[in-house]
Amino acid sequence: MKNNGMLVILSGPAGSGKDTVIAELFKSNFDITKSVSMTTRAPRDGETDGIDYIFVSEEVFLKSVKNEELLEFARYGINYYGTPKAPVDKWLSEGETVILKIDVEGADNIRKMYPDTVSIFIMPPSMQILEKRLRNRGSEDEEDVLRRLKIAVREIERCKDEYDYVVINDDLQDAVDDIKTIINAERHKVSRSSIFLSEVFKNV
Ligand code: 5GP
Repeated sequence: MKNNGMLVILSGPAGSGKDTVIAELFKSNFDITKSVSMTTRAPRDGETDGIDYIFVSEEVFLKSVKNEELLEFARYGINYYGTPKAPVDKWLSEGETVILKIDVEGADNIRKMYPDTVSIFIMPPSMQILEKRLRNRGSEDEEDVLRRLKIAVREIERCKDEYDYVVINDDLQDAVDDIKTIINAERHKVSRSSIFLSEVFKNV
């Protein structure tokens, strides 16, 4: 059966657990494809080029913007992040569910281009827990932690008007199950089943 492709945005403040949630989705063999973003930020310990991000210089990034190779891009803190266009277009045409782990600004731009995008905001259980998680991961210096906390407040404020779903990441497994439920329900919408339904009706 051929499905319609579907874009799923996963946003949430730094430290909300987006990467862990995505890793769990993959571990459970959930049928999704993740877009690998391009960024000018330096790799953290354990991150691999081409898997976690495509790590590039600012010069290369801005060239990709100029050549219209990115579906969207945004500046987050002191770095640029963007979604490469070609792979996403290909996966959507093949009927895949594509996950974009992007910030609220990027999400806004994607919704304008693809209005039927599903957007999920991962919320920490509290700001205190968010701050603790950010400090515990130890990958950012104090200045960056404070910058990310400030951005987090703005992102959480925007979530209530701009996102379709909110998932609280208190217990990881519950959060992952909630996301699977949302994606599965969205897949079954009649409006997303036009390709399958037209195949069925051809034989009626
Ligand atoms: P981090 O540096 O913690 O990996 O990411 C910082 C922020 O950039 C996160 O909110 C993350 O979701 C966002 N981000 C990652 N990739 C992209 C992208 O391709 N586009 C946009 N707009 N944001 C992104």
